Amino acid sequence: MKFSLKILLWTIIVMALALGFSGFYFVNYVFETSLEREVGQAMDESSILGFAFETAALSVPAKYSVLPDNTVEEIASNLERGGQSTSRLLRISDEEKNVLYTSDGFEMDDELLFQTGENIKTYRIINVGEKYFVHTGTTVNALNRILYLENMKDISEVFTERTMGFSLYRRVTLIMLFAGMLIMQIISSLLTKPVRLLTEGTKRMAAGDYAYRAKQISQDELGQLTKDFNSMAGALEQNIEKLEEEIEAKEEFMGAFAHELKTPLTAIIGYADMLRSHKLDEEKSIMSANYIYTEGKRLETMSLRLLDIIVAGKEEAELQAVPVEPVFAYLEEMFVGSREMEFHFAYEPGTALAEINLIKTVLVNLVDNACKASEDGGRIEISGQALENGYRFAVRDYGIGIPEEELHKITKAFYMVDKSRARSKNGAGLGLALCVEILKIHQSRLEIESKTGEGSCFSFVLAKGGVQE
Ligand code: ADP
Repeated sequence: MKFSLKILLWTIIVMALALGFSGFYFVNYVFETSLEREVGQAMDESSILGFAFETAALSVPAKYSVLPDNTVEEIASNLERGGQSTSRLLRISDEEKNVLYTSDGFEMDDELLFQTGENIKTYRIINVGEKYFVHTGTTVNALNRILYLENMKDISEVFTERTMGFSLYRRVTLIMLFAGMLIMQIISSLLTKPVRLLTEGTKRMAAGDYAYRAKQISQDELGQLTKDFNSMAGALEQNIEKLEEEIEAKEEFMGAFAHELKTPLTAIIGYADMLRSHKLDEEKSIMSANYIYTEGKRLETMSLRLLDIIVAGKEEAELQAVPVEPVFAYLEEMFVGSREMEFHFAYEPGTALAEINLIKTVLVNLVDNACKASEDGGRIEISGQALENGYRFAVRDYGIGIPEEELHKITKAFYMVDKSRARSKNGAGLGLALCVEILKIHQSRLEIESKTGEGSCFSFVLAKGGVQE
């Protein structure tokens, strides 16, 4: 069942109960009050009739010491008519409760008569046919006699009013319920609109529309829920985008890996086949063996680099505050003299929070790339700058540079701007990818500035380590 329908149903049930009970209570209260008033009036009338009877009995001639029965009848008949448009219904009985006078239409058992006694006034409410009466009983002291006077007062109107009251209230209740239903239908539809919008949102998201945001139309709890739903959708969208990017990167990586593997393997297989199936002269044999060796070496370098990247990606290095001078000394020792380049070292003393061997790997890769990008004898500047909160390493060359549109791609695994040139220099497009992974461990990133034909500058900043003794 729909939520809005549930709200509607429950409201109608509560309204029906509330209106029903309050109506019943109200009509009944009016009825009880009227009945009480009528009973009071009937009792008063009974007393007045008794008093009138006693007064009338006073005018009996003095010769009677006891009120004679025919005088009783006479007085009763007078009282019965007693100035009213409709005659009263009376019954008068003597001391032994024998009936002396009965009005026409007074058809009543004598149950009440037997309950009535001297100073005991009685009444009861009875139903005769379609009519209701208050039947009262009282005693009358008249001329040495105690007589019983019963009176019947028609109170059918009170009961009719109650029946009419109930019927009117039933109609009012039905009209109110119908009107309430219409109003609640509109209200519940408005109240549940945010829920409908959210449902639409979840459906759209389930169908893959992660950019969909539910419209917030209220500031209450449901509005807050919509807000939370939208922020959850935002987080989900971001995560999915990230996952998609990761999957894409992995697929790209696999494609590039397969491609990079294919080239050296094709060369190796081709030359090996030539060696085994043809009788080659010595020079060609040596050349083929050389190809196999160099391509094998390239494969080896590539697999080692790949291994390094995988290890670096998983590694949680223990960073330590280390002085930077030994790092530069290591680079000097490694490159100066062994490469035909003009190296310039300019570094400030300082410390950096690092895993020293990993940072050496990064710098060796950067200097190696700088050498590969420069002509023999080219100038390569390796510098270090102590910053307020860290230490900046930079490797600058004045070589071929990198086209702007390639800049964001060169850190991807297996990416080489000029593949044949890179391969000829034993490149596999993995060095920078490794640098990026290592710098990630150091919460740092590689910054690259480059211009085609003018050279490049690769730099990164490491957090400043504590003071070393
Ligand atoms: P590799 O050097 O093994 O090819 P890298 O990941 O280190 O792989 O570099 C990727 C590519 O980026 C290189 O092939 C080269 O095209 C380009 N590159 C890197 N460093 C430089 C540089 N200093 N100057 C010009 N191009 C560079």
